Amino acid sequence: MKIEKSSQDLENEVIFAGLCIHCGSCNAFCPHMDFSQETGEAFVVDECAETIGLCYNACPRTFLPISEIEEKLFGQTRVDLGVGVYKDIVQVKSKNKDSILYNLVSAAFDSGVVKHFVLSDPKSKKPPVAFPVVVDNAKDAKKYIPEKTMDNAGPLITGIGRAYLDKKKDIGIIANPCHLQGLAKILVSDFNTGAERTSLKIAFACSSGGMTGCSYCTDFSGEFSDISYSPWGAPKGSGEAFLIIRTDVGQKVLDAAVKGKLLEITNKEPDLSEMKKFLNKKKKKNFLNLLGRDLVTAKYLKLNVDELKDILE
Ligand code: SF4
Ligand code: SF4
Repeated sequence: MKIEKSSQDLENEVIFAGLCIHCGSCNAFCPHMDFSQETGEAFVVDECAETIGLCYNACPRTFLPISEIEEKLFGQTRVDLGVGVYKDIVQVKSKNKDSILYNLVSAAFDSGVVKHFVLSDPKSKKPPVAFPVVVDNAKDAKKYIPEKTMDNAGPLITGIGRAYLDKKKDIGIIANPCHLQGLAKILVSDFNTGAERTSLKIAFACSSGGMTGCSYCTDFSGEFSDISYSPWGAPKGSGEAFLIIRTDVGQKVLDAAVKGKLLEITNKEPDLSEMKKFLNKKKKKNFLNLLGRDLVTAKYLKLNVDELKDILE
């Protein structure tokens, strides 16, 4: 699905409307867009002659045809209204001193799923601002592993664009759900970008990234990832987390992490009730923010009245 709109529409409908979440999807592959080196926010460098702009069509806040993206990414639509498409959810713990996320990155390099990784380099906590870095091995990844979603608050998708310009292939990324919405829109479009060089998408489940636009976000778990990492819902203080495995690639990385004694599965059928509480709380609050603001703004989600009924109950 492509819409005949471009950068000026993106400015009016998203950036000036306070919906931008600094994901970098609009400026990852387009020379007419850039991001602020101070805040990470997107801006238009110069007017282009495109009638169907990549920027507008890549942005997760212009329109988000969720079912269409799911069909193209996963070959099916969601199995769970809140969690999205998935094959399995397991509870894991680290088998060494390193974090669960680092061990996933390490397993992805070891198993050959990735040769490079886009990660975040936080520059400021208040407001949260981070910029992308591209690393070429697990050792270099270590200092950029996010501890919370605010560490990812910046234009990380531009890291994929940068890796592509550097002729890199088999690129992994750890990002927040919103980043992966933009990346998914680019991946399922027929724009000629380098985004298809992404071979692994790990989402950090996110209740808020600390930006104004986060108040209108309804994806908690990172529904367009290969693996979602959610410490939310796992027993408090255990250091464990849930991994939501959505694709064969995600399963391959988890298998490699277990086989390499980096991670241990501590529960194959964990109780999801706490995670779903977090998830539904965010969805409900932010759907109501969208509806309270105006229905025109809410249209980016193509709100379906039947789905809303379930969520708002
Ligand atoms: S693609 Fe991301 S950075 Fe660009 S305008 Fe949309 S939300 Fe903002
Ligand atoms: S709440 Fe999280 S996923 Fe949603 S827009 Fe903010 S940073 Fe992105």
